[in-house]
Amino acid sequence: MKSIIFASALSVLVLQNANAQRVSPDEVATSRGTLTIQPLVHASFVLGLKDLTIYVDPTGGAKNYSGIRQPDVILVTDIHGDHFDPATLSAVRTANTVIIAPKAVADKMPGDLKAKVVIMNNGDKKTESGVGITAIPMYNLPESPTAMHTKGRGNGYVLTIGGKNLYISGDTQGIPEMRALKNIDIAFVCMNLPYTMTVDEAADAVLAFKPKTVYPYHYRGKDGLSDVNAFKTKVEAGDKNIKVVQKNWYPG
Ligand code: ZN
Repeated sequence: MKSIIFASALSVLVLQNANAQRVSPDEVATSRGTLTIQPLVHASFVLGLKDLTIYVDPTGGAKNYSGIRQPDVILVTDIHGDHFDPATLSAVRTANTVIIAPKAVADKMPGDLKAKVVIMNNGDKKTESGVGITAIPMYNLPESPTAMHTKGRGNGYVLTIGGKNLYISGDTQGIPEMRALKNIDIAFVCMNLPYTMTVDEAADAVLAFKPKTVYPYHYRGKDGLSDVNAFKTKVEAGDKNIKVVQKNWYPG
């Protein structure tokens, strides 16, 4: 008996442990009900309505998604491993999951995923599960064929969910296409070196397109984490109406 009690106590501990490092989700009211924003790690997060679950750049294997509903839609931004992880995609998708990715990502998918993927390239628009999706360019400046992120390969996305517009930057600099965005309610903006942009460049771009709320994400670079506090200070000094939401995107 004692050993059974011990075993079940242990399994509770293990279960709690599996989720111990997941940060608390945020909730946003939309016309489709509450939208939950669950940061996981780096570029990976989950958006949830009561009848819809969207995974963005899923990585880290199925264990990273324990206790989270299976995805109706998966968005992949680019070919690099912190965004496109075929093993995780295969582990978390269901027969009904719609995987949306740019062609460069689809080209690198194993056959079973490739057969199911819906390709969107820069500028493409579609509606999936009632969510408006527009693929936005993401690339390094100056443009170069040898850049880490060449123009046209990867997608940022603008999603319209229950009347709210969300922008997911992907890996990019403060490109004109970002600066020209309008009516963004919630933005996820990258800032890491040497792959994307400095916090100053990110703040400057955010001050140009003025989302109501911005989440700095994707901020671990070659030499550690970017100074997200400095980003927040700069954005709020430039426009007090923009809310900067800092979450721990590296809880591990
Ligand atoms: Zn990246």
